[in-house]
Amino acid sequence: MTPESLIVETFRLSPLQKAALARLNLHTILDLLYYFPTRYSSISEIKNISELIIGEKAVIYGQISNLKTAKGFKSKMTYAEATIEDRTGKIKTIWFRQPYIAKMFGEGDLVKLSGTVSDKNGAKYLSNPEIEKTKDLPIDAGNSLFKNTDQIGAVSYPVYPETQGITSKWIYHAIDKIIKNGTIEAIVDPIPQEILEKYHLPALKTALVWVHMPKEESHGLIARKRFAFEEIFFIQLLRQKAKKEYEKNKSFFVHAKEEDVNDFISRFPFRPTDAQNKAIEDIYKDLRSEKPMLRLLEGDVGSGKTFVAAAIAYALTQERTQGEFTKLQTAYMAPTEILATQLFENFIKYFSHLPVTIGLVTGSGCKKFPSKVDPTGWTNISKTQLMKWVGGGEVDILVGTHAIIQKSVNFKNLAFAIIDEQHRFGTAQRMKLVKKGQPVPHFLSMTATPIPRTLALTIYGDLDLTLLDAMPPGRKPVITDIIYAKNRDQMYEDIRKELKTGRQAYVICPRIDEPDPEKEMALQAKSVKEEAKRLKKNIFQEYEIDILHGKMTPKEKESIMASFEKKEIDILCATSVVEVGVNVPNATIIIIEGAERFGLAQLHQLRGRVIRSNHQAYCYLLTESFGQKTKDRLHALKTAKNGFELAEMDLALRGAGELGGKKQWGVSDLGMEAIKNLKMVEAARFEAKEMLKKNPSLKKYPLILAKLEGKETVSHFE
Ligand code: ADP
Ligand code: MG
Repeated sequence: MTPESLIVETFRLSPLQKAALARLNLHTILDLLYYFPTRYSSISEIKNISELIIGEKAVIYGQISNLKTAKGFKSKMTYAEATIEDRTGKIKTIWFRQPYIAKMFGEGDLVKLSGTVSDKNGAKYLSNPEIEKTKDLPIDAGNSLFKNTDQIGAVSYPVYPETQGITSKWIYHAIDKIIKNGTIEAIVDPIPQEILEKYHLPALKTALVWVHMPKEESHGLIARKRFAFEEIFFIQLLRQKAKKEYEKNKSFFVHAKEEDVNDFISRFPFRPTDAQNKAIEDIYKDLRSEKPMLRLLEGDVGSGKTFVAAAIAYALTQERTQGEFTKLQTAYMAPTEILATQLFENFIKYFSHLPVTIGLVTGSGCKKFPSKVDPTGWTNISKTQLMKWVGGGEVDILVGTHAIIQKSVNFKNLAFAIIDEQHRFGTAQRMKLVKKGQPVPHFLSMTATPIPRTLALTIYGDLDLTLLDAMPPGRKPVITDIIYAKNRDQMYEDIRKELKTGRQAYVICPRIDEPDPEKEMALQAKSVKEEAKRLKKNIFQEYEIDILHGKMTPKEKESIMASFEKKEIDILCATSVVEVGVNVPNATIIIIEGAERFGLAQLHQLRGRVIRSNHQAYCYLLTESFGQKTKDRLHALKTAKNGFELAEMDLALRGAGELGGKKQWGVSDLGMEAIKNLKMVEAARFEAKEMLKKNPSLKKYPLILAKLEGKETVSHFE
């Protein structure tokens, strides 16, 4: 048996087991060794608070109180503080740099904490412990958890994720055999020793033994830490290497003078925020450099990313000195037709005073501005025609959905590509805009996804980051309320008052149609169609109500959005199709029915639809679920200051495992554990950078190259 041997040739397996292993993507012995337990059935060392010893790690259960946030006196560092009490005593707890924790728990909540006992002037306190809510205190339950006292510290066995056909026990025995027969001796560690030593991480062989059969809990932990580091390190290497390769290409030089943009900006009805100015400056600098730009503009919903994109596109339209390149083109890709159409219309407004041609390409047709007949408006044209102009370099700015990356779209001089809502696309999709052999475009990706900073650093490792960290002045936070059935009528009355002043509302429902009552009794979620009817009949008779959902044709959707923008519709009942990007500043109310059915990031995006003006905006989260989890999540939405804070709360609330790691970002559950640890992510990023600096081709590290090769095709979003 070698690490490369196939499992099917090494173990006797039933067809069911073979199928299961294939499903788990486990083929070689090494694959199996990299299939890690999700937990160990150990009994944690639960301590009474009175027994805590300074310097030791401990798990305690207790009631939380005196929650507050504060700022360090000298350091100015913000932190959360609380007291935890069990029947034996009390201890103070501090979470440095995590002030939001104080908002996530209520006075008197029962919690489980694990962390290290520290000491300040002789007083014990817990610093930065992990915290989660629990239903009951095990210590009160007659010390039943301490029955196996002789077992404390001894790990009984690892628990592996199972699938039909493969049990945790089978994996345990298989791995036991592999380890005992010495096969792992042949495995060479791809990570250089000096890196392991620097971060006190175990060598691969040791880590493999420890992760599968730790003799002490700490062995399991440190082994997991190593593999988490390894995963993040490889992702970083992959992304940064791709970035370096891309930067070897020739790109278009753009003069992009900051002074010149003032003319363009002065025509807007508002002044750019400092953050917007700074972003424009950053990007202009990139455009003037030799290298093609790869940049991510990350800004909360409503922070005004479109404006930045427009100011950059403007610099491109001013470029006239490129010799044979008379015009440089901009591509603007958006994830939905509604959004693409809206961006097309906005860009017409921004550029109509200039000799600029703008095109729109979506699955359902093409448009061009200006129209020959009416130079102030756009016209429908055939795709063939539009593509001819794009290919001839006569279209300056092409806005589109995915349709923009089809083979049939060929730019003459694509110099700048904007990817709106980057999280909806993959790196691979972005790269489809790059054609061989010509100067490559500068890329600006934009996103408002509330994901924790560590995750962003990881999955966007190939992008330079610009933060749009301020909202346009005067924006008031959306007043967010959680509404249960008994308060529904009052809510409608409050909303009526707002509608009377001329504002508009969205009502978001989880479903399009009413479910078949025979079949889906259990599914009580409201539907767009029925809810619209009900509201018109029983609640808002005096207002115009219409619907919008994904099953409508693009033409229908477009016409509904147009009427809503023109205020011919007061209340728009919609599915989450309005989630990204849609911008109707007069709509200041959003009701979200069945809020517990949406993810936090999605709820945040939905709510973002109503922070587009300086009118006070309202978000009503309706739920019939009284579960603690729902309450916590919705409460986080109510209290978080912005998307970034929300993301950190989400991470703390649900644990990294539930952030959709594998599915959404291509990061395994173990890798997601690392996401909780900013230091580790930064270390992995730093080491990847250093390694590429020393040896850009990585030829000196054949094992690493081999590892990366297998991953090259993996895009993190598909
Ligand atoms: P997002 O960052 O979510 O894409 P948008 O670009 O759609 O946000 O901008 C949201 C709204 O804010 C738009 O109506 C836009 O015109 C407006 N806006 C952008 N920048 C400013 C600013 N500096 N001052 C006032 N309003 C602004
Ligand atoms: Mg946007």
